[in-house]
Amino acid sequence: MAIGLNVPEPEDSCADEDCPFHGSLAVRGQTLEGTVASTDMDKTVVVEREYDVRVPKYDRYMKRRSRVPAHAPTCMELSEGDTVRIAETRPLSKTKSHVVVEVLDGEGGDA
Ligand SMILES: [Zn+2]
Repeated sequence: MAIGLNVPEPEDSCADEDCPFHGSLAVRGQTLEGTVASTDMDKTVVVEREYDVRVPKYDRYMKRRSRVPAHAPTCMELSEGDTVRIAETRPLSKTKSHVVVEVLDGEGGDA
């Protein structure tokens, strides 16, 4: 099933209603890349991104970090340290409105 993003379909299938590939979850908006920082929650991972922000006053870059809770469909096997792509979707819970759509560097990576 095409989800409107240029990402490969996962090898595994699942019965997760909130899966963009096998369920009825529609993705929209922007996609982000980040690292899985936590897999402690059920079907939710925390994706952390680090980016540089320029500070004009000192003409230097400052590191900023953002943590985005994202839904992990059951067909995706995610571990901490994985590099993943997430896409915006409808709000899935109080804090969750993104879903993991692709594992870019899996199996825990070398992180
Ligand atoms: Zn799925």
